[in-house]
Amino acid sequence: MLPFVIKSSTLAPPDWEKRGAPNATFVFDRTVFYVHSSSYGPLQVSYYSKRVHPTNTSFAEALRTIDLRPSRSGFNGGLLSGSAYTTETIHPASATRSSSHTSYLTCAIQNIQLKVYNMALASKILFRGDKETGVTVSTEGTSLYTLTATKEVVLFAGMFHSPQLLMLSGVGPRPLLDSLRIPVISDLPGVGQHLQDPIFISVQSGVKTPSLASELADPNRLGPNLTAYINKKAGPYSSAGGYIAFEKLPAASRAVFSARTRDGSPTLRTPSSWKVVPEVTPGRSVETDEQILDYIQNKAMQMWHASATDAMGNDPANGTVVDWRAKVFGVDGLRVVDASALPFALPGHPQVTIYAFAEEIAALILEDIKQ
Ligand SMILES: Cc1cc2nc3c(=O)[nH]c(=O)nc-3n(C[C@H](O)[C@H](O)[C@H](O)COP(=O)(O)OP(=O)(O)OC[C@H]3O[C@@H](n4cnc5c(N)ncnc54)[C@H](O)[C@@H]3O)c2cc1C
Repeated sequence: MLPFVIKSSTLAPPDWEKRGAPNATFVFDRTVFYVHSSSYGPLQVSYYSKRVHPTNTSFAEALRTIDLRPSRSGFNGGLLSGSAYTTETIHPASATRSSSHTSYLTCAIQNIQLKVYNMALASKILFRGDKETGVTVSTEGTSLYTLTATKEVVLFAGMFHSPQLLMLSGVGPRPLLDSLRIPVISDLPGVGQHLQDPIFISVQSGVKTPSLASELADPNRLGPNLTAYINKKAGPYSSAGGYIAFEKLPAASRAVFSARTRDGSPTLRTPSSWKVVPEVTPGRSVETDEQILDYIQNKAMQMWHASATDAMGNDPANGTVVDWRAKVFGVDGLRVVDASALPFALPGHPQVTIYAFAEEIAALILEDIKQ
């Protein structure tokens, strides 16, 4: 997978001057992402932050006290463990978002004859027998028209809309399609099922150190902050992201967990140096195990990193929808290349994997065309 990650992105080194925080430096490992090699991808990735706040430094220190030490190579080296400043899909020169539109699509429009139908909504994939032949589309509510496929259709409408389009087109669980009188092209029980999205639970404490939020909330700083952003692409408006930590305990450590923890009752630890003013959320009303469990059950939220609704695998009867070349089972000439095709929820942020996955399938499509 790494070659496809490298192929998709260009990682800019941190801009120490703009960060303006000599106590928030870290060793920048140039081998990660092969910075300065010739294999640059169109997606621009830069380091948080163009401005680092004292709160980040305190947070890093606090994490260290619970053994979440700074990761030497950050989280782009393939190891999600320890703590690090995040990277972000922000173009380092313009300090604006590098999206699939501004990176890949812009490149493609410049380099190849790609026709883009703006504001077009696909409503159905058309089949002749089990061979996919095109897609019906409307633009901003116009009447439907058909785009015909000469080779194949690649679907990437995301983890909700890709399975929806498949089902509307007759690819999905037969009982459901029958109940909606949609003629079945391929009976795939897994379409739209098995959604996975990690959850998060919020524990918030106030801090006395300046933070991004406090700087942005200060009306006296609005002018200087905007000037810094517009003139120098610097300051708090130039960055997103932050300092985060991942904990992946090795199997050997998990083996020595107490039976209680293995059964799902771990001890939650808060770094004492971080809790500088009273906890805001959930606060003092949540103290006992029962209250904490109740808080988690009622307040846990999804990460918005959902996936696996058209899961990749080799057993369509048992819920997988696409094979390892992202081809939909039971039909010809149709692939799904987005988060829905991931076989399971990823441990980290999914974006980079989805770009790399698309690069990998693009390479397989080219291979298929050559054969
Ligand atoms: C609030 C939020 C915050 C997130 N933050 C992060 C983050 O910080 N880091 C990270 O790595 N990930 C983050 N994610 C997750 C990340 O955005 C997704 O995992 C990723 O975008 C999935 O990519 P995709 O290509 O599968 O789908 P999408 O990015 O959803 O792309 C699907 C595209 O298909 C289009 N589409 C849908 N239906 C149709 C149709 N019928 N016809 C035509 N077009 C259609 C949609 O408009 C969309 O442009 C976040 C997600 C959310 C919701």
